[in-house]
Amino acid sequence: MSGLLPEMIDPIRFARTGQVIKGVIPMQQMNRLAEIVNTGDSAVEVDLRFSFNERGQCLMEGEMAACVDLPCQRCLRMMRYPVRVRIKMAACKVGREDELADGVDPLPTENGRLNLFLLAEDEIILGLPIVAMHPLNECAVGEDYKKDVLIADHEPKEETQRPFAGLAEMLAKQKGGREEI
Ligand SMILES: [Zn+2]
Repeated sequence: MSGLLPEMIDPIRFARTGQVIKGVIPMQQMNRLAEIVNTGDSAVEVDLRFSFNERGQCLMEGEMAACVDLPCQRCLRMMRYPVRVRIKMAACKVGREDELADGVDPLPTENGRLNLFLLAEDEIILGLPIVAMHPLNECAVGEDYKKDVLIADHEPKEETQRPFAGLAEMLAKQKGGREEI
């Protein structure tokens, strides 16, 4: 399955045939996402494999990726941010999430069907940064601000531990001692 993906899929049927789906989901209708970022006319790229794991659970794994525009928290200009999310989900009954292996999330199916569009929107929202900022050398903040930040970054921090400071002192003392002889 490739190209434009369907909204609803049947993961168990896909797992039986070891189906791989690679395709896109347009972001135009992702209203919750559109409230946070500028989705433009881009799409979520989806690459998922279906199988049964050693516990006999329907397993869906792969990744989803998208590029979104969101404001830089330093200069407030829009920046392009690539989101890439790893997916590893297995089917389990509600309340039986403890039957899933570590690092495996419950597959959000309803009557055996999975809404791929909702899932993609959720995953991209979860993959957004808490604070988005351009790298400093690409940010449109004033030169003075950049200087301040760069100086602050390079100032030695008082709290920094210097594990070898004591050793250096000891060596200096030893050296001094030898010179006295
Ligand atoms: Zn910026």
